[in-house]
Amino acid sequence: MAGFFDTKIEFLKGVGPQKAALINKELNIFTYGELLQHYPFRYEDRTKFWKIRELSADLENVQIIAKIKKVELVSMGNKNRLVAHVADETGEMELTWFKGIQWVQKKLPVGAVFIFLGKPALFGRKWSIAHPEMEPVTAANEHRNNFQPVYSTTEKLRNRFLDSRGISKIMEGLVQGSLPHIQETIPDSIREQYQLIGRQESIRQIHFPSEPNLLQRARKRLKFEEFFYLQLRLLKMKVTRTEKYRGQILGNTELLTEFYNNHIPFELTNAQKRVIRESFMDMKSGKQMNRLIQGDVGSGKTMVAFICALIAISSGAQTCLMAPTEILANQHYEGLKEYADMMGIKIALLTGSSKKAQRRVIHEELLSGELKILIGTHALLEDIVQFQNLGLAIVDEQHRFGVAQRAKLWAKNETFIPHVLVMTATPIPRTLAMTLYGDLDVSVIDELPAGRKPIQTVHRYDKDRLKVFGFINEEIKKGRQVYIVYPLIEESETLDLKNVMDGYESISRAFPNYPVSIVNGSMKADAKDYEMQRFVKGETKIMVATTVIEVGVNVPNASVMIIENAERFGLSQLHQLRGRVGRGAEQSYCVLMSKYELSKDSRVRLDTMVRTNDGFEIADVDLRLRGPGDLMGTQQSGITDLLIADLSKDAPILTLARDAAQQVLANDPDLSLPENASILRQIRQQKKHAVNWSRIS
Ligand code: ADP
Ligand code: MG
Repeated sequence: MAGFFDTKIEFLKGVGPQKAALINKELNIFTYGELLQHYPFRYEDRTKFWKIRELSADLENVQIIAKIKKVELVSMGNKNRLVAHVADETGEMELTWFKGIQWVQKKLPVGAVFIFLGKPALFGRKWSIAHPEMEPVTAANEHRNNFQPVYSTTEKLRNRFLDSRGISKIMEGLVQGSLPHIQETIPDSIREQYQLIGRQESIRQIHFPSEPNLLQRARKRLKFEEFFYLQLRLLKMKVTRTEKYRGQILGNTELLTEFYNNHIPFELTNAQKRVIRESFMDMKSGKQMNRLIQGDVGSGKTMVAFICALIAISSGAQTCLMAPTEILANQHYEGLKEYADMMGIKIALLTGSSKKAQRRVIHEELLSGELKILIGTHALLEDIVQFQNLGLAIVDEQHRFGVAQRAKLWAKNETFIPHVLVMTATPIPRTLAMTLYGDLDVSVIDELPAGRKPIQTVHRYDKDRLKVFGFINEEIKKGRQVYIVYPLIEESETLDLKNVMDGYESISRAFPNYPVSIVNGSMKADAKDYEMQRFVKGETKIMVATTVIEVGVNVPNASVMIIENAERFGLSQLHQLRGRVGRGAEQSYCVLMSKYELSKDSRVRLDTMVRTNDGFEIADVDLRLRGPGDLMGTQQSGITDLLIADLSKDAPILTLARDAAQQVLANDPDLSLPENASILRQIRQQKKHAVNWSRIS
C-alpha cells in the first residue's frame, strides 16, 4: 500500500517526465505523497459573481459573467496587446492580454458567454482586467457552490501552464486515484473525542472543498494530525531520555529550611514557590532533570536557582551557575555570595579574567568538594574544571548557549549526568515552548514580586529630544539613575562606535554637572567592568551604552531607560532592555526614541511596547511579526516541517494535540495496543521518509 504514495509524479496523468523534472526542481516535490500534501494556501470564493456596475478598485479577484462583443489587436510601438470588449446587463468592460495572444484569441469567439476572473482596475472611465482566468459558462459552473483552491507555484511553472489552475487539474486525478489508498492515522477514539473528520475526507476537502464548513473541519483535522505526531515524537524523546539517564537523588532540604527560616530577605512569590517545588520533585526523583525556567525579567529567577542549589548542597552535591557574560557572572556572584556567606557555604567566581593563582585554588577546592557553588562564564566548561560531585548545573539566559556547550556540562559528572536547570528571560510563546522544548520540562514564573510598579513606557520622536532631556534632568535631581542605549549597527562596527560616542558627547554636553559612564562593545572587559561598577555604585548618574547591558544587569536605583533608534530593535530586545529598570521601589520609565517615518512593523513593535509590560503578550506579537522559524533562528524540532499548521495561529489546536499525545502515551507508552496500531504505522512511515530525505539532500 505504501508503494502508491512513493510513485514518481512523472507517472501522473498530465505530468510526464519534463514537467515532473520542473516540479521536482521548483517545488521540491517528487512523489505522489508529496504532491498530495501540496495543500492550497488559500481559497477563492467562487460562490459570488459580480456585476460590472458593482466593481470597485479595492476588490481583489472577482468573477464576472460576460458576453464577448469584440476582440481586437491593439499595437503600441512594437508591443501588441489583445483587448476583448465584454458586457453584461449592467455595463461594459475590457479584458487585456500582453502574452499568449494567439492562443487566447482562438478561445474567444464573439458572442460566447464566459466566466472571467481577475483583479479589476480602472483605466480612464473603463474597468479592465489584465490576464483574467476564463472558462465558458456551463449549466454546472454557473451555479456552482465552491471554493477554488489556490496553490503556490513559480514563474517557471506558470510558463509551462502549471499555474494554480494547472496544478489543480493534476490534483484532481491524483486525489481521485489516492482516495482508496489513504489510511486513517488517528485512532477512532481520539477522532471521536476531538471531533475530527476522517483522513480521506480531509484530503478531498482540502483540495476540492464542497462547502466552507467541511473545508474548515478538514483543515482542523490535518493541522491536528501534524501537531499530534510532532508532539508524540517530542514526548517519546523525553520518555526515552528519562528512562536512559538515572539522576542523582538530591532530596535533602536541611539547608533550604535553615535559609528559609532565618535568612531569606523577602517572601517568595507563589510562582517562585511552585517552580522550586517542581524542580525539587525532579531532583529527588532518581531521574535526570532537564527543566527550562521561563520567567519574565525581574521575576526572581536567581533566588529560585539559589534555593535549588541549597537542595543540591544539603544532599552532598555541588552546583555551578553559568552566565553568558562576565558582567552578569560578577553580578550573580556578588548577589549570591551574600546569601552563601550567611549560610557558611563556600562560593567562588571563575571567568576569563580570573588570575592563575585563584584558578588553582578553585580547581583544588572543587575536587576536594570544599567549594560548593561555582559561578562563572564559559570558562566553567574548560576540561580542567573538574568537580568532586557536580549535582546541579544552572544555565542563565540560555539562548546564548549552544547544545554542544550543554553537552560539555553533562560530561562534568561521570557517575550521574548533573541535573540541569536552564533559566531564560526571553518569554517564548507557549506554543513555541511546547514545540522547541517539548522534550524539556517547562516551568513558568508568571508572577512578579509584590509591590513592583509597572514601568511606564512612552514613544517619543527625535524632535522631542529636548523635552526628554528635561525629564532626565528631573529624575536625576530626584536621585535616580538613567540608561541611554544605542543600537548595535550590524553593518559597521565603526558606525556603531561613532553612534554611541556621538551620543556620549552630546549627553556629556547636555548634562555637564552629572558624571556619565560609557560601555561599548570595543572596550576591554576590565574597562567595561570599571565603568559598570561606577554606575552600580551610583558614582555616575547616566550610563550610555550599546546593547551590552541587555542581559541581566541589576541596578535597582536606575529608573529611566532611554532607547535611541528604538525602531532598530527587535521586540524581545526592547523588552529585555526595559527590564533593566523597574527593579526598585520607585516609579520607572522607558522612553522609546525614534525617527518620525516608521515602517508598519516598527510601529507595531513600538505600539506593543507602549501598550503592555507582559513578556508573553510581547512574545506573541513577535511571533506573529516574524514567524516561528525566524524567531528562534533554528531548524530544530521539525517546526520547519509543518505543512499546514501554523504555530502563530493554531495554538488552540496544538494544545489539544499535545493533550491527545500525552493521553495516548500515558495509556500505552510503547504504542503496542491494537487501537494504536495506526499510530505506530504512521510513525514508521515518517521515519522511512526521514531516511529518504537525508539521502536526497
Ligand atoms: P530575573 O528573573 O530577571 O533574573 P532577579 O533574580 O535578578 O530577576 O530578581 C530581580 C530582583 O527582584 C532582585 O533584586 C531580587 O532580589 C528581587 N526579588 C526576587 N524575588 C523576590 C521576591 N519574591 N520578593 C521581592 N523581591 C524579590
Ligand atoms: Mg537574571
